[in-house]
Amino acid sequence: MTSEVGTDIRKAAGILRDGGLVAFATETVYGLGGNALDVNAVARIFEAKARPKFDPLIVHIHDTSQVSELVQTVSVPATDLMERFWPGPLTLVMPKQNVVPDLVTAGLPSVALRMPAHPMAMELIEQAGVPVAAPSANPFGCLSPTRVEHVADQLGNHIDYILDGGACPIGVESTVVGFPDGSPVLLRPGGLPLEEIEAAIGPVQQIAKGEVSDNPSETIEATPQISPGLLSRHYAPNTPLITRDEELEIDVSKLRVGLLTFKSGNDVIGFTAVEVLSEQGNLVEAATNFFVALRKLDNLSLDLILADRFPEYGLGRALNDRLHRAAKKR
Ligand code: AMP
Ligand code: MG
Repeated sequence: MTSEVGTDIRKAAGILRDGGLVAFATETVYGLGGNALDVNAVARIFEAKARPKFDPLIVHIHDTSQVSELVQTVSVPATDLMERFWPGPLTLVMPKQNVVPDLVTAGLPSVALRMPAHPMAMELIEQAGVPVAAPSANPFGCLSPTRVEHVADQLGNHIDYILDGGACPIGVESTVVGFPDGSPVLLRPGGLPLEEIEAAIGPVQQIAKGEVSDNPSETIEATPQISPGLLSRHYAPNTPLITRDEELEIDVSKLRVGLLTFKSGNDVIGFTAVEVLSEQGNLVEAATNFFVALRKLDNLSLDLILADRFPEYGLGRALNDRLHRAAKKR
């Protein structure tokens, strides 16, 4: 059985209210949504994605009036960030109310909240009348879906309805910020650049920085306790992927090697296939194309995908983070 794909928001909202699962477009990637307050619906999300229960879900809302229902206290920096960046690709982790099932938060006392900046997602959540728990609409650990066909291909028979909202404009997941000791900590780089957050609220601690470091000893081991799910291999194609700077002695002409590269002008000789993410080297455009391009290369039965790193600023931070995890050994 394959899922129905359409644009009927009313129908999709009804399915969510009745405990069903709906995939929907957001500005970051497609989400697989269920009623966040219905533990059975939430359990179905984990099952559909084969997602480990230690990896908590982000709860999506359409109005800040829903925050007090889900969160105990909102700190000053969190309030500032909501006012400045919601709706948008920013997830905030805050102390949860009892009404949020432990399954949503993987037993943590905090819940991750986001208000997506996508008209269909907003309308869906409003009509459903419930907060919507939604991880990306893909099997756990695989490439994130940024087009409706990615969802249909990968999860098609596990979902009650797929709401077609077109291509996701940002193309990488939300930035996640928590406040474990009161001050802001970047838990995952994402669609909202760190620079913009720091311009709004001042310095943000970068606990996830070790994730993109070339030196494994710099990885901050506290990360799993604060934000489980961040250290796992993730966002990964089936084809082995390495970044160009960790290239071993590989003769690309003897193997079928695909290249994922940021902009034109990088060395592309000898590759079986080349995906240039942004001719002019624009990080916003590169992010939009990132998962689509990686998917294309992954579908070519290549021996290897070689990826060029991005500059470590703006959306480049999120893209390097995704590359780093895609390159982790199984
Ligand atoms: P995604 O897999 O894109 O849905 O992103 C969810 C990620 O957000 C998880 O893997 C966690 O790293 C983080 N997250 C979600 N909820 C929490 C929470 N309650 N506390 C800390 N991090 C969280
Ligand atoms: Mg995901």
